[in-house]
Amino acid sequence: MSTIPSLGSIIVTGGSRGIGAAVALRVAAQGHPVAVNYARAAAAAQRVVAAIVAAGGRACAIQADVADEQQVLELFSAAEAQLGPLYGLVNNAGITGRLGKLVDLPVEELARVMAVNVTGSFLCAREAVRRLATDRGGRGGVIVNLSSRAAKIGGANDWVHYAASKGAIDTFTLGLAREVAAAGIRVNAVAPGLIDTEIHASAGDPERLARIGPNIPLGRPGSADEVAAAIVWLLSPAASYVTGAILEVGGGR
Ligand code: NAP
Repeated sequence: MSTIPSLGSIIVTGGSRGIGAAVALRVAAQGHPVAVNYARAAAAAQRVVAAIVAAGGRACAIQADVADEQQVLELFSAAEAQLGPLYGLVNNAGITGRLGKLVDLPVEELARVMAVNVTGSFLCAREAVRRLATDRGGRGGVIVNLSSRAAKIGGANDWVHYAASKGAIDTFTLGLAREVAAAGIRVNAVAPGLIDTEIHASAGDPERLARIGPNIPLGRPGSADEVAAAIVWLLSPAASYVTGAILEVGGGR
């Protein structure tokens, strides 16, 4: 595994469960202090922190709704106060809303998915750039956004609103990467396919993994840790010439 020489701290939004928890464990194992952000699952976030500390790493759990600007400001201040200067941000927090067709989509659900997935990623990236940009006195760093294969597949009959939110992440990744490259910040995205986390049950379809998994070219859903491995690579100096990329981790889907 590649290592990251600059052992600044890393904020993982939605680090309490699923892909975010796997990322937090991996970057902590490389020596980075990790801020494990969560929205509601305090006990799950504390379990991730406890596992990191038990393995000799540094971490803290910080509650913040990434869709709320004030809470994002407090998340970044608290992370730096407790863990030292920032090196990276993993914009992982995301929700799908309930499975269903556009004709049945409540406007409140559309607004919430866009607020968490799009506005939340923008707000967190803005706070990261304010701290990392070399033209603002920072040391440079890395941002990794969570897209989805849904951005290209479209999510028909399931969640076109969610797919569209991830399409926004793809465009955001490309534009921000070009905007901050000269300021020493790389910005990339990972686009997972069907991954074995609680997100499918949360969307109202706990059988989704078992139903769709066999139809994926690699014949199964991916694991959170397989996505985390790609994210950690993008964070690392091994990806030093990679920016504006969207790395598909979809088992061929
Ligand atoms: P998950 O298991 O449902 O976990 C979601 C995480 O996001 C939790 O830690 C949750 O915190 C946090 N979160 C939700 N809303 C938040 C908010 N407003 N503010 C802060 N944190 C919030 O999800 P996952 O499957 O690991 O997905 C992680 C990312 O990968 C998402 O962006 C998702 O869209 C993307 N993705 C997943 C898949 C997949 O198949 N699993 C595929 C493509 C892309 P709490 O526990 O406190 O609620």
